[in-house]
Amino acid sequence: MQYRVVPVTPYQQNCSVIWCSETRRGAVIDPGGDIDKIEAVIREESIDIEKILLTHGHLDHVGGTAKMSQTYNAPIEGPHREEAFWLNALDAQAQMMGFEPVEAFQPTRWLDDGDEVSVGELKLQVFHCPGHTPGHVVFYHQNSSMVFVGDVLFNGSIGRTDFPRGDHQQLLDSIRTKLWPLGDEVTFVPGHGPQSTIGVERRHNPFVADHNFG
Ligand SMILES: [Zn+2]
Ligand SMILES: [Zn+2]
Repeated sequence: MQYRVVPVTPYQQNCSVIWCSETRRGAVIDPGGDIDKIEAVIREESIDIEKILLTHGHLDHVGGTAKMSQTYNAPIEGPHREEAFWLNALDAQAQMMGFEPVEAFQPTRWLDDGDEVSVGELKLQVFHCPGHTPGHVVFYHQNSSMVFVGDVLFNGSIGRTDFPRGDHQQLLDSIRTKLWPLGDEVTFVPGHGPQSTIGVERRHNPFVADHNFG
């Protein structure tokens, strides 16, 4: 797997373009906006986009989805069905965040914990990680020891849980039961800010380091 991270929107959301080195078929994870920047990367790398993957329904992660799905004739996979209420509230989110309104869309495929998504010849595993939002999922590529975690975990922090249906304890549980078992050496791309590894966060993250839990 190869990938490039493209920060988009005023929230500097980390959209990732990932692709299969064999086939140069790829996917866009969380096309939140600034589509021209994402498309420039797709052209530079000559990627044949075959799907759009979504971690959760916040507008800075999904704002470019309808348009890119049309441009590339690409199905939309994710997030989990519990995220429908956020996707149905794109207009309200745009007002709240001061974004231009965007076109509504429905995922082609809702994802469940344990599902697999394919991108070219790559297989990524899906984990349901509720807490920041109820239908949040992450995408794990075992062969390259990489996981795309959206707003579940950050370098030195964790996702906000003060939104409707956010749940702090559930977020801690998601991180400790779904992400930690992937292994210390696994690198993650968070929804915002710099990358890190599971091992570094287990030692140093002030919210979820192992020493917090005795
Ligand atoms: Zn979010
Ligand atoms: Zn975010």
